[in-house]
Amino acid sequence: MDHRSPIARSRRRKLVLLLLALVILPGAALIAGYPALRTVAGVILRHPPNEALLRWFYEPSARAALSTSFAAPCPGYPFLTPSAGLVGGLPWNAAYAPYNILQPHPGIDIFGDGPEGTVPVYAAYDGLLTREEDWVATVIIRHDDPLQPGRVIWTYYTHMASVDGRRSYIVDRFPPGVTALPVRQGELLGYQGSYNGGPGAQPIGMHLHFSIVRSDALGHYLNEAVFANTLDPTPYLGLKLNDPSSGDFPLRCLPPPGAAPSS
Ligand SMILES: [Zn+2]
Repeated sequence: MDHRSPIARSRRRKLVLLLLALVILPGAALIAGYPALRTVAGVILRHPPNEALLRWFYEPSARAALSTSFAAPCPGYPFLTPSAGLVGGLPWNAAYAPYNILQPHPGIDIFGDGPEGTVPVYAAYDGLLTREEDWVATVIIRHDDPLQPGRVIWTYYTHMASVDGRRSYIVDRFPPGVTALPVRQGELLGYQGSYNGGPGAQPIGMHLHFSIVRSDALGHYLNEAVFANTLDPTPYLGLKLNDPSSGDFPLRCLPPPGAAPSS
């Protein structure tokens, strides 16, 4: 027989209910949520470009078959694909980790085959090159937009240094602090590296990150890390870079703009 007061009994019942809520509900949510979590992870891992990336790193014999390489721009398109390798990090605007819906991937990543500092990176188009004073691994080139004459756009190239930032792989012609130096399409800028901000930064594997950046009203480049400041590279390079189902490697040139679709 319970000799405690009804108030104490009611308090104890509340405490038990609270404990149940604290322990059982999150547990149940976790169990129920686990398959969903697994599905999401599965979709990310099965995403064709990611599958290709896993093969690129774990199956070096597959690299030749995955590698995209062009000596000239795709017919009918203005920009040269600036480096050779697996065009990963797709699609442009990918929202899977480390990116998300609010901050998707603002460019494309080209993973080259070879040691660091040996896979060339070329200017995508004629323009004026700038390398800010504190840029170890990055250059940016200003262009008159060939698809929208009168508009200023920029192409951005990064990760061109050793992982610790001690060795820059940018060629000597473009030292830190250089501003608006004329460059031609296809001119050597440097070599792929794996610099991502120096010691302690997330490892990224050797690649080139390439993006097309909008400018402000004065023609100065905007912050490349903000997705909204970048443009879809598909119509510039003539490669399908904005389609989540893209996973047909190596990538091939799209038909020239305005060409009748092949049957
Ligand atoms: Zn990237």
